[in-house]
Amino acid sequence: MKIAIYPGSFDPITFGHLDIIRRAADIFDKVIVCVMVNAEKNPMFSLDERVAFVHDAVKKWNNVEADSANILLAEYAKEQGAVAIVKGLRVMSDYEKECQMALINKRINPDLDTVFLPASERYTYLSSSIVKEMAKYGASLDEFLPMHMIADIQQRAKRVSEF
Ligand code: ADP
Repeated sequence: MKIAIYPGSFDPITFGHLDIIRRAADIFDKVIVCVMVNAEKNPMFSLDERVAFVHDAVKKWNNVEADSANILLAEYAKEQGAVAIVKGLRVMSDYEKECQMALINKRINPDLDTVFLPASERYTYLSSSIVKEMAKYGASLDEFLPMHMIADIQQRAKRVSEF
């Protein structure tokens, strides 16, 4: 069974991420969407909230799972028996950063490869940060996120912008 890991902060998961997940799930037997604990970022949503959003958004696909990890990605991939890490690329700057990560991960775990999928044209502009910014200003989020998440995101963004 070919397992792939799709790692990220997913703060929160967007249609851009979901487009990559759906395409990866067509290529691999199983895709584990792994919310990584990243000390450098200051997330709007807790780890558990982010995993719950991912879980709800991917439950329609039977070969996709949601998880979280607080260890090195290459180690996590080894534990899961994964053959690949999937990354979505929007712009050239994504490639520079991700290529460096891919080389490091390969060095730590030589059996692990990184597969880059280009962002679909309609989601090239979309990022979690843009969604949070739009939410703070009360803009409509229908184009960016699954319906079931929108009220939660709007509420949290309102609380944050009141500080
Ligand atoms: P962000 O960069 O939005 O904060 P993450 O850290 O959660 O997102 O990113 C996880 C992965 O998803 C990365 O490989 C990132 O390049 C990719 N990604 C994020 N948004 C999109 C998008 N709109 N289309 C394709 N890939 C994306």
